[in-house]
Amino acid sequence: MPDIPLLAGQDGARIPAIGLGTYDLRGADGVAATRTALDAGYRLLDTAFNYDNEGAVGRAVAESAVPRDTIVYSTKLPGRYHRHDLARRAIEESLFRSGLDRLDLVLIHWPNPRVGLYAEAWRALVEARADGLVSMIGVSNFLPEHLDRIIGETGVTPVVNQILVHPYTPNDALRAANAERGILTEGYSPLGKHTDLLADPVVTRIAVAHGVSARVVLLAWSVAIGVIPLPKSASPARQAENLDVFGVELSADEVAALSDLGRAEGADPRTHEEF
Ligand code: NDP
Repeated sequence: MPDIPLLAGQDGARIPAIGLGTYDLRGADGVAATRTALDAGYRLLDTAFNYDNEGAVGRAVAESAVPRDTIVYSTKLPGRYHRHDLARRAIEESLFRSGLDRLDLVLIHWPNPRVGLYAEAWRALVEARADGLVSMIGVSNFLPEHLDRIIGETGVTPVVNQILVHPYTPNDALRAANAERGILTEGYSPLGKHTDLLADPVVTRIAVAHGVSARVVLLAWSVAIGVIPLPKSASPARQAENLDVFGVELSADEVAALSDLGRAEGADPRTHEEF
């Protein structure tokens, strides 16, 4: 089993250097898939209120022999619950759904700035942390202007900002903005879902050179640039394969060649809204 390094966040927070994406892992199959991931070595589990699987992921944590205090159970507050009182109730509901006695990390899923309530939602997260419902708080899909507003209004900096990161969408400026503020970057869709990235000649050349799969190369690039990738897989074999990333060391030239593939923006958080 690989020894997954921990990255240091704000206030002594420690976040594993890779996590399991859990979108679409639901029901009994979702419990089983999350358990095999824990057995394989994953210690960060990325769920969300809107994935309809906070219960399945929590059940896997409860049933697993892996010590609870080594696991980071992470969930996300949906856009329809940004109003302060609704946010508090939704966080409580996430906790109840998880079946655990605390959440480890709660993120605001999208800022929805045209609605304009994300700062209220952030205050609810800050209070939920003070009240012991959750240990760490962060955000997802936030731009620097959104980060600065919540930090300015509360004095509390998110531990992580979870954003789209893969070589076609490296999100350099936003990653730099996170780092300047002491915020860790988690990368979603790290395997380039909905793109042709896996067949890109640069990716396949590096995969052949290292004798690993293209997916492992993509994850190794994320790790090399300091991003915490969140690959999702329902299959025990593929979950284990994705952890091979810690046996691969890309050269600086290889990292640069992959970073140079950047060509597309993700959804614009100023206008893209999720509820
Ligand atoms: P990923 O980049 O993780 O790709 C997942 C797909 O790759 C699945 O179809 C999976 O299939 C397949 N796969 C994974 N590993 C392998 C492998 N070794 N060999 C072959 N196929 C493989 O995409 P996601 O979009 O799911 O992103 C990951 C996670 O990020 C999500 O699950 C979610 O937790 C988070 N996320 C967050 C968002 C946000 O707004 N904050 C937005 C989108 C995602 P299979 O399961 O069959 O192995």
